[in-house]
Amino acid sequence: MALQQVTSNVFTDITCRGCNFGFLTTSDGIVMFDSPHKPSDAMALKAELARRGELRYIINTEPHGDHWTGNSFFDVPVIAHEGVRRRILETDLEQHVQRTASFGPDEPQYMEGYQFNAPAITFENGMTLRVGDHTIQIIHMPGHTAYQAAICIKEEGVVWTSDNVFNKVQSFLQECSPDQWLTAVESLRRLDEEIFVPGHGEICGKEYLDEQGSYIQEWKDYVWNAVERGMSKEDAIYSLTNLTERYPMEAAHQDAAAVMRMNVANLHDYLTGNWVPSNPQAPPAR
Ligand SMILES: [Zn+2]
Repeated sequence: MALQQVTSNVFTDITCRGCNFGFLTTSDGIVMFDSPHKPSDAMALKAELARRGELRYIINTEPHGDHWTGNSFFDVPVIAHEGVRRRILETDLEQHVQRTASFGPDEPQYMEGYQFNAPAITFENGMTLRVGDHTIQIIHMPGHTAYQAAICIKEEGVVWTSDNVFNKVQSFLQECSPDQWLTAVESLRRLDEEIFVPGHGEICGKEYLDEQGSYIQEWKDYVWNAVERGMSKEDAIYSLTNLTERYPMEAAHQDAAAVMRMNVANLHDYLTGNWVPSNPQAPPAR
């Protein structure tokens, strides 16, 4: 772990496998934002938090496993969108344990007896949480998935944006509505807070939103162009590869070509009227 101080009371780690998790220290305990993907990182974070106070809540920003797998290593209630709760409970536990245990030699020991820590407190449009002297405003912001939320830490001027922002690393569009995502980018722009902890990549500010928005638009135009030429989904998946190299993958284990295929598959469905909200595309086998 490599903890980075964002403001006087907000900390994050952007170096670990998975999302940018972090926490807020208040006068009445700690609130965590997302959780580590790797169990050993969760254990290290747990030890770190124990030195700083009592953990009160975890808030998850979205339904992907790299944001919530680590919830289970903390004995506190989780807060998230109702759809995040549903997606966690629909996850195949055995497969999830096997996959997470494969992250490294230290991981299997922590996955024995693993159970989901699914959100016990859920919202649809948003909610406000007050802990100690801090106000945390949670806003539903569909885009990258149907269940994204932005978490605004009012007194600190910080937002956990979820994967609606990938700062200079490859964006995953495997189940997004590009139009909702563009709306989310504009919603983020209108927030009072100026410091963004993105889902992935380095801490940024509103200046990055233009780039994020134009990349989503570029993806949409790129696949639309193929749809207009009458290209089938199968053909599009294997012939549209131009955007693979635009940004680096965040981590070495990620396969840029597979992500590209998932993104194309989803956008082809979206642009041809075959899209089902929050139905993530599995990497197509060939
Ligand atoms: Zn995600």
